[in-house]
Amino acid sequence: MAPQQTVTPPAPPTSAPAPRAQLIHIEVDRRLGHEWDEWNGRALPGGGNFSAAPRLFFHFAALTIAAVTGAVAFLLYLIGPRLGTLSPLVPRILWSVLAVLAVLQWLYLGVLAASFYSGRNLLPERLMERGPYLQLMNYTSLIARGFGKRDWVEHAAIDVYNTLAERRGRRVGKGELLVLIPRCLSKQALDGVLEIAGRYEVPVFVATRGQLARRVIRERRPRAVVAVACERDMMTGLRDVAGKLPVLGLTMQLPNGPCRDAAIDLGQMEQWVRGLVGAAPAPAHTKP
Ligand code: SF4
Repeated sequence: MAPQQTVTPPAPPTSAPAPRAQLIHIEVDRRLGHEWDEWNGRALPGGGNFSAAPRLFFHFAALTIAAVTGAVAFLLYLIGPRLGTLSPLVPRILWSVLAVLAVLQWLYLGVLAASFYSGRNLLPERLMERGPYLQLMNYTSLIARGFGKRDWVEHAAIDVYNTLAERRGRRVGKGELLVLIPRCLSKQALDGVLEIAGRYEVPVFVATRGQLARRVIRERRPRAVVAVACERDMMTGLRDVAGKLPVLGLTMQLPNGPCRDAAIDLGQMEQWVRGLVGAAPAPAHTKP
């Protein structure tokens, strides 16, 4: 879908106007993102707040590794005798490869958990939150769907990701940071985002679809992104973008169901923006 690059001018000045970022394009209709295609129209559990402890992700990640290893082992068990007719070495090699991979995966999960809970990243980002972790998150989400726990597990996975990513202490220039928000923010949340972005002088884009978000990133070439989205949209966004570009992902609460009136933690957003640009906010303009 072609983006509509409608620039909304900033609000007129008041007695002590806070700087306010320009907003590039917003739509206000309720069009469900495809991640919510199967939504039945009922209120979301917990008022659309899917907060969950990080350990939920680690439990499901362990289950995912066990399930995948078990499925491959079962397949090998079934086809092993047939492969053995080619050469008795073939099944033996395959079993050995599977054993090595299983050990590596369990080790990886152990290092990940140790990093998260010890407060010290034990691997470089390319081997952790911007590497295999992104795949692990997505496979874990698939398993969680089977247990009806998708949104909570995704929330926990994104929290773990953000903790690891934030710890890198990355700094970028103001013009190198991009804030990406979805079209479903409530007015209050949108005003808050624009105010924060205005104070730190970082551009804000509204991306109506993940595809458009990726296009904005391609064209603007930021060095870091603070993205806002529901857990479902954030998972695909992180999977596609975080390997190429540092991203912090702020999830939302959906009190009125998906794709409308979403609320966010503005304090968290400001903390991330301030941390990334490493600067104090621009002073508010006051009338002489
Ligand atoms: S980010 Fe908002 S608009 Fe996009 S799929 Fe999630 S709830 Fe819907």
